[in-house]
Amino acid sequence: MTTYTNSSSPRKPLIAGNWKMNMDHVQGADLLQSLAEGLSEANHDPQRVEVAVFPPLTTLSTVQALIQDDGLDLVCGGQDLSPYDSGAYTGDTSAQFLAKLGCRYVLVGHSERRTIHNETDDVLNAKVRAAYRHSIVPVLCVGEGLEIRQAGTHVEHTLTQLRAGVEGLTEEQAPRLVVAYEPVWAIGTGEVAGPQDAQEMCAAIRADLTELFDADVAARARLLYGGSVKANNAAAILNEPDVDGVLVGGASLDSAEFARIACAEKPQTAAPAL
Ligand code: PEP
Repeated sequence: MTTYTNSSSPRKPLIAGNWKMNMDHVQGADLLQSLAEGLSEANHDPQRVEVAVFPPLTTLSTVQALIQDDGLDLVCGGQDLSPYDSGAYTGDTSAQFLAKLGCRYVLVGHSERRTIHNETDDVLNAKVRAAYRHSIVPVLCVGEGLEIRQAGTHVEHTLTQLRAGVEGLTEEQAPRLVVAYEPVWAIGTGEVAGPQDAQEMCAAIRADLTELFDADVAARARLLYGGSVKANNAAAILNEPDVDGVLVGGASLDSAEFARIACAEKPQTAAPAL
């Protein structure tokens, strides 16, 4: 199984905060400002670690305007997108609108979308392609539920989601991919997969990317872990060689906690593969 050490990694760590359906645009502005202060107090170095927030849609433009106007070292992303670029799709959001708002990233296939909205692998693959059409980096979320983990088929299950999600990507597109391994049983439950569990899956994903594309793609794609990440467990997870960042839900709503997670990064530097 291929692994990459911290010192030789070409990958810039990404600390991503998924605000879910929390924070209206007024609350979101406050949270962003206190996060920026927290990062600055903790001496966050944006050259070494990228910090992204994923606010709800109605909060996005306020957050993006603040980032731009105040020159904050943060980026933002959408929580979902339509597989289509425009048309009669009431309630959906086009990747081109997210791109125009300045989103760098978009979450695709979060387990809450897969379960509550019944999003299938085919739909998610179409969403991944829609993101690339508009130069937005998809953060493809994959991961198993508790029953699958207990049956011991979690790696196979997660790689099936990965393969379906990235189908049809070119070798030019694939290195920019971000994959978030989020075991469903660890999301919002306080149950954290151990650092070794995160490493096992991220190494398996990276090995699979080598097979699906090539070693260069696998070495450049960033792999995140998500599931009850907090300031007190982030460093151990980030220290694993194939884990390039974390996707944080609940703890991203606490600016001080999230700033501490962002500063618990692994020691390495490089430009992001954007
Ligand atoms: C998430 O929603 O992606 C997530 C990982 O949530 P939490 O950190 O709250 O488990």
